[in-house]
Amino acid sequence: MDYSYDPTNIFARILRGEIPNRTVLETEHALAFEDIHPQAPVHVLVIPKGPYVSLDHFLRDAGAEEQLGFWAAVSEVCGRLDLEAGARFIANSRDHAHQEVPHYHLHILGGRPLGPMLVR
Ligand code: AMP
Repeated sequence: MDYSYDPTNIFARILRGEIPNRTVLETEHALAFEDIHPQAPVHVLVIPKGPYVSLDHFLRDAGAEEQLGFWAAVSEVCGRLDLEAGARFIANSRDHAHQEVPHYHLHILGGRPLGPMLVR
């Protein structure tokens, strides 16, 4: 698997403070911010601060502290959002999943019924 990381991607630029974001939570290991084109009333992205292109890359190469820190941030964000009625967690990886930004991000979606998981 080619996990080479492009440091010019837009989320890398957000992490460097080069472009603004609507931050929900920032920790040592993760940043959570609102998606710029929300697909649901709740649509937050959580990204690790390290240079990982996808969830599978993150799981393979991130250290235990980074991984625990990332998932702790996800948990904290979930507690701040209204997800009582349900949520969907999505991590698109590479072309078949239509990943647009090559920095691992976990979508958290909710706030309305979200329909079936996949549309053919
Ligand atoms: P994906 O297709 O899984 O790579 O999703 C990329 C997501 O990033 C899309 O939902 C975009 O709306 C979102 N996005 C792109 N640029 C920004 C930005 N500058 N701030 C917040 N969200 C963004």
